Amino acid sequence: MKMLINGEWVDREEKIEVRDPYDNSLVDTVPRATVEDVKRAIAAAVEGFKIARKLPTYKRTEILYKTAEIVKARSEDFARTIAREGSKTIREARKEVYRCTVTLRIAAEEASRILGETITFDQAIGSENRRGYYYRMPIGVIAAITPFNDPLNLVAHKLGPAFAGGNSVVLKPATVTPLSALKLGEAFLEAGLPPKMLNIVTGYGSEIGDALVTDPRIRMISFTGGVEAGKEIVAKAGLKKIGMELGSNSPVIVLADADLEKAVESCVSGAFWAAGQNCLGVQRIYVEESIYSEFVEKFVVRTKKYKVGPKLEEDCDMGPMITEKEAIRIEQWVEEAIKAGAKVECGHKRDGAIYWPTVLTNVPDGVKVDCDEVFAPVVSIYPVKTLDEAIEKANAVNYGLHAAIFTNDINKAFKAIEELEVGGVIINDSTDYRMDAMPFGGVKNSGLGREGIKFALMEMTEPKVVCFNL
Ligand code: NAP
Repeated sequence: MKMLINGEWVDREEKIEVRDPYDNSLVDTVPRATVEDVKRAIAAAVEGFKIARKLPTYKRTEILYKTAEIVKARSEDFARTIAREGSKTIREARKEVYRCTVTLRIAAEEASRILGETITFDQAIGSENRRGYYYRMPIGVIAAITPFNDPLNLVAHKLGPAFAGGNSVVLKPATVTPLSALKLGEAFLEAGLPPKMLNIVTGYGSEIGDALVTDPRIRMISFTGGVEAGKEIVAKAGLKKIGMELGSNSPVIVLADADLEKAVESCVSGAFWAAGQNCLGVQRIYVEESIYSEFVEKFVVRTKKYKVGPKLEEDCDMGPMITEKEAIRIEQWVEEAIKAGAKVECGHKRDGAIYWPTVLTNVPDGVKVDCDEVFAPVVSIYPVKTLDEAIEKANAVNYGLHAAIFTNDINKAFKAIEELEVGGVIINDSTDYRMDAMPFGGVKNSGLGREGIKFALMEMTEPKVVCFNL
């Protein structure tokens, strides 16, 4: 495929190969963008913004609805693209495509709800004769940088609110999974988006990242990815608004009064969805002592039933990791935990990029699988004596995106809601529950700001105040 700059699909001599991580087969190639390409894309987006800010709300709404319809009509093609360029199974990919249509539909609806309010100027002496209001104006050119693990819907989470709010965008998708983003770009243009409003550059972050994030014409960087890249970008960005959706190592608490079957089913899915490469993935499970053995046993039985590998087959439960390098990394992290005393209940087997769903117990404090983000199909289960102990351990990390608790005791649920240091608490569901209209984001190293269309729209617009001296 080609990249999109200044309304044209542009190719380059130098290519980046997009390979299926399951069998390393070539899916497609994309041009390897240069710093010059980025500069051209930003210049086009500056022109695009002049068009975007004058585009009436009904037109933005129409374009977003129409894009959602196009994606829906091409669901199977999008799903196969996601499943081939990335890690997801075909069933997981279909769910992402559906969610993308929901994200775009919500963006279409929210476009007409970007409201301001009147201001009571007469609350200060000397302002008795002032009347006025504020409304929200678009922020300008947004640099959107996205990760590999949801290569379609996380792009929609940036483009949807950006266009709903009247902005233009330079998008840099993850280098390993650029195709879904480019196809979404095609859908937007077909839906009538003025071409200069969306520019997509395909290239390595290490080569073109600085040119994008340091350019003063960019008013906001909306980044989703790992904490290291996030910190690097923040350090270089200069005077710009920053949205950071970063990683986590999400904790789940399972109390003795919970529905055990439901907790097991939900946590297994939450741990191994997208081969564990999910910012909300279940990583640490704290189970009340009296049900600990039973929980571990049921969890392992369920995990062993997972069908792993051929991700385009309908009955496949889990695909490969995004690269063999990533699978080797997690294999080494688990080795480190084993040396420190962890017990492997199942999994810890690797074949190329495939790393089998792995359940660990006895994991000592401080090893990487305990306190860093695994971003892999590895989950650790720990016994706890009390809810207080579970909350203390859940909070004892540098991340805080989502946490979950399984309980039928409303008082315990409320205690967890109030004391867990995270951006969202999910009750009787795993941490990976997300509906695309809810505010989404984290505390600590998990990020800055919130997505979820209405909330992203607040970040991507700013108030302009109007005051009449009567
Ligand atoms: P990543 O390595 O941080 O890359 C994310 C994006 O940033 C890619 O497009 C990458 O380009 C680009 N990038 C890297 N360094 C850059 C730089 N210096 N300047 C500009 N761009 C740069 O993350 P990933 O491996 O794709 O994704 C996994 C991470 O994303 C995990 O930590 C996960 O938790 C997090 N994540 C968070 C959320 C959330 O909403 N909170 C959702 C999904 C994923 P290249 O591909 O060219 O390197």
